Amino acid sequence: MAEQAVIAGGCHCGAIRYEAEGAPEHHALCHCTDCRGWSGAPVMGWIAFREDHVSVTGEPVTYHSSEHGERQFCGRCGTGLFYRNASALPGLVDVQSGTLDDPATFPPGAQIMVKERLPWTSGMAELPAFATYPGMD
Ligand SMILES: [Zn+2]
Ligand SMILES: [Zn+2]
Repeated sequence: MAEQAVIAGGCHCGAIRYEAEGAPEHHALCHCTDCRGWSGAPVMGWIAFREDHVSVTGEPVTYHSSEHGERQFCGRCGTGLFYRNASALPGLVDVQSGTLDDPATFPPGAQIMVKERLPWTSGMAELPAFATYPGMD
């Protein structure tokens, strides 16, 4: 992945901001049922950084979504931001990649937890695509 000095992002309302130094460890699209149920979205993008390379301003709310998993979000606008799991991802913080200021910069390198994916997500690229909405120019 491309090296960039500082990678920044934040929640939709701007109450929570973060900066990460150095290159991301990995970026994956997760199909697990926990991500889907918590986010309300069919698939979630996670870009991982070393915990000691990430600084956060503002006070995210913490939700323990599983025995070892901890998810954080903005209590004002609801944007999901961070995932930590000291058991599965020691020393790392996963950041919801859609919250990056420039999310197009780091394309994902893999899809994970596909054993739990919605079957139709494998055919998304073949769906009819509209620049805005059907019937609108
Ligand atoms: Zn917010
Ligand atoms: Zn997941």
